[in-house]
Amino acid sequence: MNKLANRLDHFSDSIIRRMTRIANQYDAVNLSQGFPDFDPPQPLLDALKQVADHGPHQYEITWGSAKFRQLLAQKQEKLMAMAINPNENILVTCGSTEAMMCAVMTVCNPKDKVIIFSPFYENYGADAILSDAEPIYVPLIPPTFEFDKQQLRAAFEQGAKAIIVCNPSNPCGKVFTKEELDYISQLAIEFDTYVITDEVYEHIVYAPYKHLYLANFPGMKERTITCSSLSKTYSITGWRLGYIIADKDIIDGCKKIHDFLTVGAAAPLQQAACAGLALKQDYYDNLTKLYTHKRQLFLSGLDKIGLSYYEPQGAYYVLVDISTLNPFKTDLEFCEWLIKEVGVAAVPGSAFFKDSDPDTTKYRYIRFHFAKKEETLLDALERLSHIKEKLLCQSH
Ligand code: GLN
Repeated sequence: MNKLANRLDHFSDSIIRRMTRIANQYDAVNLSQGFPDFDPPQPLLDALKQVADHGPHQYEITWGSAKFRQLLAQKQEKLMAMAINPNENILVTCGSTEAMMCAVMTVCNPKDKVIIFSPFYENYGADAILSDAEPIYVPLIPPTFEFDKQQLRAAFEQGAKAIIVCNPSNPCGKVFTKEELDYISQLAIEFDTYVITDEVYEHIVYAPYKHLYLANFPGMKERTITCSSLSKTYSITGWRLGYIIADKDIIDGCKKIHDFLTVGAAAPLQQAACAGLALKQDYYDNLTKLYTHKRQLFLSGLDKIGLSYYEPQGAYYVLVDISTLNPFKTDLEFCEWLIKEVGVAAVPGSAFFKDSDPDTTKYRYIRFHFAKKEETLLDALERLSHIKEKLLCQSH
């Protein structure tokens, strides 16, 4: 048979989503792919029931329903402290996965360079490859996951067309400081580079850290493509509702791509999700409290077990350092063992690094998420409390 497209040679299926399939196979507690095991807020569930009887069940306007865009504009205008016209500045997508792909395809020509901080959410590599763009990786250096200013400048100097900024960051939990965002903004303006943000964890930030929107920095409104989603904010990852906010010219470009990629996000779910967009500030305050509690519970459990990790400032992931524990050649083998023998699923850290990184970097971590009910987290911690004795048996 004739060979399938060459682009398939440059990336694998998602390791994150693959770990969920393996976890299900072995009935492990799934702390790999990040999604809650608790229900969305009641108003969304009530609205979903209403939609079954009253619709809509047919296509919405391809840019997203008017009501959804209206409510989203109202909510984000307050947060982002800028004017957002629902007809000109918003595109509703199938999750932020489509938003990011659409943004990269809108900005990049073949061979254009895209700066990606590493460790990175694995989709970005594929986003660049599927758009025929070339990633330039700039390391975020543990334990604080700060970048080296000279290294970042050097990446811009290579003529980058865009930079992707995931803030708060998946997988390392970094929340970019004002000073860091100022520096990125200055470089983006100096080198005329687009900034594509992934801000899906904008409401999951732990005190004293604060989320700042890059679009809001001086001179950045016209070059920032803000991507986000409702998945994490309303615990509806399966509804696949995301969006892009940007200046009209950019959104017009994104609309063209989106029109032919997916036509539109699910109409009934957009309608039901309006109940979420209409929630008041106390909902977001409570969400922060909920995740602050889960983080504290999970991290103190890891402390008791004696696993070392990097404390997340935002999002709901924690990178655990397995460099002194791992008897296997790779982090993937470690994670497979963890699922089968300990009964807990994590994502191997190498999913978040480029293949050519040294083994000491890319095999050093595993990622857990803690967006689970308290009882699920306690079950996982109980299982993990046997990890060291089981590893001992393994090496004998
Ligand atoms: N953001 C989630 C994670 O990092 C997964 C998202 C997805 O699979 N689309 O685990």
